Amino acid sequence: MNGLHKILFKAGQRWRNPSLAGHYAFLKRSEGWSREQLIDYQWEKLLETIRYAWEHSTFYRQKWTEAGVHPGDIKTPEDVRKIPVVSKQELIHHNAEVHSDEYFGRKFYAVTSGTTGESLSFWKDENADSFNRAAIFRGYSWYGVEPWEFNGYFWGFSFGFLQRIKTRVLDWLVNRYRLFSYRHGDLARFARKMQHARYLEGYSSAIYQTAKLILEHDLPRPAGLKLVKGTSEKIYPHYHEATLAAFGQPVRSEYGAAESGVIAFECPEGHMHITSEGVYVEEENGEIIVTNLVMRSFPVVRYALGDYIRLKPADFRCACGMEHPVIEEVTGRVGTTVYGKTGVYPSLYFYYVFKNLNKNHGIKLSYQVVQPEKGYLVFRLERKLSAAERKALATEIEALFKDDVEYELREGEVLFPDGRKGKFRDFVSEVE
Ligand SMILES: [Zn+2]
Repeated sequence: MNGLHKILFKAGQRWRNPSLAGHYAFLKRSEGWSREQLIDYQWEKLLETIRYAWEHSTFYRQKWTEAGVHPGDIKTPEDVRKIPVVSKQELIHHNAEVHSDEYFGRKFYAVTSGTTGESLSFWKDENADSFNRAAIFRGYSWYGVEPWEFNGYFWGFSFGFLQRIKTRVLDWLVNRYRLFSYRHGDLARFARKMQHARYLEGYSSAIYQTAKLILEHDLPRPAGLKLVKGTSEKIYPHYHEATLAAFGQPVRSEYGAAESGVIAFECPEGHMHITSEGVYVEEENGEIIVTNLVMRSFPVVRYALGDYIRLKPADFRCACGMEHPVIEEVTGRVGTTVYGKTGVYPSLYFYYVFKNLNKNHGIKLSYQVVQPEKGYLVFRLERKLSAAERKALATEIEALFKDDVEYELREGEVLFPDGRKGKFRDFVSEVE
């Protein structure tokens, strides 16, 4: 069966992504490059990208002209910081002018999943799409996974009956089996199918929830998985306990977005290596600013993706041997405001509340915080707490918010309801 799927996969790839094989071969070579080689290559690609955006995108030319920046002036990484940062709103509202004026042969329509507000759509050229897939497949290769091997998939709940059948057929073609819902029958079938799977991928919260249910219902545990890959969402430390028990693997992180491409992929040593060949990453006030070095149809230059990150020091070298710089942690989403009675706080505060709860008291919790009105918070917790745990949590909440918020704890809550669409959010504001 694997032979057939390999043939189907390769044929599909040659038809849809003719440049993928070349990118993959390149990325497997550059995997062994020194830090210096990587930085030199990345710098050349960055200058090329900046020049391209200037010449072919009305939006960037206008924006940079207003800021008094010309590509010819960019000589050092410090100069790069003079280029104004671009936001998602700008890419949405000036969509036509951001697109390149050049003709592209094959291109794909990409729509990003907007959890809050509007979603961004754009045309992605074949070269960029293929490079991105190649970067993901390189990540797979670190775990001995071939992309055509049988895999489990967690996206796209809430299907109608006919759509489910159609999806099953398409999934069969790419050799994957999808979990449609958390209903017992669906779960049991999924767990049985996964006995033959080699890797799993999906939203981290969905992977975690499935692992927990497999343990709770004592369903068969997949034994032959080489990789469990979580995308698009933050991976909390306690996820790993559940997935190690249910799937025999921790959740590995693939970090990126459709508009930026793959930014980083976690190696077997547990470090998120930046795809230096395809992105240029800067950190400004804790926020990630990313430039896509490959996509030309829709240039993305100095883009504020909306995540807080922490980079490993430049002299850090990973035991896996790759010298690609490392993102130590994606700490949270930028931008959602928490309202106290008088003050305002970034939603990143919740990350610290629960991180400190773990660090100072050894308590790991799954949570979601909801703000129904200013000055009031609802902490929804997945399990029941002991009196001591409740007290520890109160200490950590009050350490950060003082007495500026009233709050209640709701224990034993279902955080990941069945049939949900889109991503899990750890903070939901109902204010405004
Ligand atoms: Zn590594």
